[in-house]
Amino acid sequence: MNLWKNYHLAVSVDDALKALASASGPARIVAGGTDLLLDLQQGRHQPLHTLVDISAIPALTKLNIQDDALFIGAGVTHAQLEASPLVRTHALALAEACALIGGPQVRNVATLGGNVAHALPAADGTIALAALDAQAEVACFGETRRLPLLDLFAGPGASTLDPRADLLLGFYLPLGEAGTGSAFRRVMRPQGVAVAILNLAVWLRRAGERILDVRIAVGPSGPTPQRMTAAEDALRGQPFSDDAVQQAYEAILRQASFRTSRHRATKAYRQHIVGVLLAETLQAAFERAKS
Ligand SMILES: Cc1cc2nc3c(=O)[nH]c(=O)nc-3n(C[C@H](O)[C@H](O)[C@H](O)COP(=O)(O)OP(=O)(O)OC[C@H]3O[C@@H](n4cnc5c(N)ncnc54)[C@H](O)[C@@H]3O)c2cc1C
Repeated sequence: MNLWKNYHLAVSVDDALKALASASGPARIVAGGTDLLLDLQQGRHQPLHTLVDISAIPALTKLNIQDDALFIGAGVTHAQLEASPLVRTHALALAEACALIGGPQVRNVATLGGNVAHALPAADGTIALAALDAQAEVACFGETRRLPLLDLFAGPGASTLDPRADLLLGFYLPLGEAGTGSAFRRVMRPQGVAVAILNLAVWLRRAGERILDVRIAVGPSGPTPQRMTAAEDALRGQPFSDDAVQQAYEAILRQASFRTSRHRATKAYRQHIVGVLLAETLQAAFERAKS
């Protein structure tokens, strides 16, 4: 059975949106194809009438400073993000996350937009973007809208994007400043089954030995990617200490809904390992935030 009938290589955002809307059967965007094509091949996605390939659209591969923010086009690949001096300067947690995704072949084609739009609660790029307070930009029939990254998620594997009308253009991230730092860590099965057992990203601002502000994202800690706001509250304004980290760990255990998953890990293991990842990632971000 054919997994799709028509393949449209879009040359612009408008061209892609027109092709999506006008297809006479089910249609989807494809970027690197590392999620979607496997889902089609393995029967997790119904066969499609039209695939709209967005990998040749120049606007989606921009990576630059715009309006006092770091802009990352949705079509930028993980390999490009990992190697980008701009990303390493302003969003090191994201560079670290992208460097761990798949192997080189996957990272050379897989995109940040695809990582987010696939909507898994523990996608590595997504978790880093959540801690970095990213805003998403979406195009829909000649209009664009900006929204907080976490508003894109509706459930495991389900985004709030309309697959026939919305195209993710990219992400805006606050620029790094003196006194701020970020870090990403994860635990993965050695055979690397695409999604982490647990991943964790931290952004923080410090003054001397005190944490002035902090954002923490943990995946999978619920049906959608989420921030650990109770742990952030526990740390904000505190001196960095073992006691503060312990309070934050306990807050994560109260807020997160860790589950046992058949192919990855038990709930008990995740509850334990999140404490280890939290301590390591906070420490790394705190050291980087030295001004
Ligand atoms: C061997 C292997 C290892 C992997 N390892 C990891 C890993 O370690 N960590 C991890 O997080 N992921 C991993 N993945 C998953 C995957 O590589 C990433 O999620 C990747 O970023 C998806 O991007 P893509 O461009 O390939 O998306 P695609 O497969 O092209 O698209 C995925 C979904 O997003 C939609 N989409 C894509 N771009 C847009 C857009 N601009 N606007 C709207 N919708 C869009 C598509 O319609 C589709 O529904 C792995 C995959 C493989 C095959």
